Amino acid sequence: MIYANGLTKRYGSFRALDDVSFEVRKGEVVGFLGPNGAGKSTTMRILTCFISPTGGTAKVRGHDVFDNTLAVRASLGYLPQRAPLYLEMTVYEYLEFAAKIRNLDKSKFRQRARTVVEICGLAQSLSKEIRHLSHGYRQRVGLAQALVHDPPILILDEPTSDLDPNERTEFLNYLKQIGRDRTVLLSTHNLKEVEAACARAIIVSRGRVVADGALDEIRAKSGRVRYIVAVQESTGDSPYRGRGNLPRQSEVEHALNNLAGVKKLSELPTDERAHAYELSGEDGQDLRPEIFRLIADKGWVLLELRRDTQTLEDVFRQLTIGDERRNRQLGPVKDERRGGPVADDDDEEEEEEEEDEDEEESSDDSDDDGDEDDKKGKR
Ligand code: ADP
Repeated sequence: MIYANGLTKRYGSFRALDDVSFEVRKGEVVGFLGPNGAGKSTTMRILTCFISPTGGTAKVRGHDVFDNTLAVRASLGYLPQRAPLYLEMTVYEYLEFAAKIRNLDKSKFRQRARTVVEICGLAQSLSKEIRHLSHGYRQRVGLAQALVHDPPILILDEPTSDLDPNERTEFLNYLKQIGRDRTVLLSTHNLKEVEAACARAIIVSRGRVVADGALDEIRAKSGRVRYIVAVQESTGDSPYRGRGNLPRQSEVEHALNNLAGVKKLSELPTDERAHAYELSGEDGQDLRPEIFRLIADKGWVLLELRRDTQTLEDVFRQLTIGDERRNRQLGPVKDERRGGPVADDDDEEEEEEEEDEDEEESSDDSDDDGDEDDKKGKR
């Protein structure tokens, strides 16, 4: 349903996208993840025909995003980071307007309005002017306009970034409903959201795809598992239930460190009642029996033993840590990907920022012809 092949986008000498390829199949709800500036919005704006790529191709439902923009736009609903709303309209007027530009006749609109109002929880807000709505409700209206023509594909760009925790939970509930019979590409920073709503994720970092697959596959990417082990250090006034004396910290550390399969050991902060450690071992191996045996043989009292595979968050951090480092370095920094210095592209970015604002404005009117001209001019 969504197909991106070798997408590149340059702003001056700055490469915002670098050979991005992926596919989203029918019925999938895919999380599109990446730190700020990774290229998520740029990709989404190419897929929704608001900007053109410098290189590569993209198709939505088989239609090329450059050659067949109307068919692409008709196939999808798009909720940009800031929903394009006319604040002086009431919610109903705005939805009617969105339906009109999508060529829905009155009876079809009334039928669709009932569904989207129910899905998006807007029944009590229909006669309110949009400028009087809270941010969360404005996002609901934005989602409703993206759904009004019943598109088979939805592209949602950080729809929950400014919502409070309750609104977020509600939004995820809508998304689950919507995703039952639609293809959805959802960009977000919130990994919990992805775990709740998506079976698959694509992670981008500095304009490149660094992971693409089922969440379990991505979690397994690090190839490590971790264990949390806590052994009793003191009993306070109660009698000790272990054998011999309570163990010293160095004893526990030494014994765990020498266990076959333990790759790394670090002490965890605890109160004076326990010695606690985080150990890491290879994926595919389970060290819990060995850890338990060791502690039982020593006669120590085991307070906790837990095995965790890596969380999505751990893997996300590992894969995108370069972005954060780069953001904190001054002057030309070494590009770990290419092994050479990176151009100091800040000036170009600023220069191009104006262009971005222009595009942003035209993107508010979905079917702006000027936008098409802009695309053609750039190719
Ligand atoms: P994300 O959505 O992942 O936060 P974006 O796709 O918005 O990232 O941006 C990717 C990179 O491209 C960022 O470094 C951003 O500053 C840059 N960028 C985006 N639009 C423009 C533009 N019009 N001119 C110059 N740089 C831009």
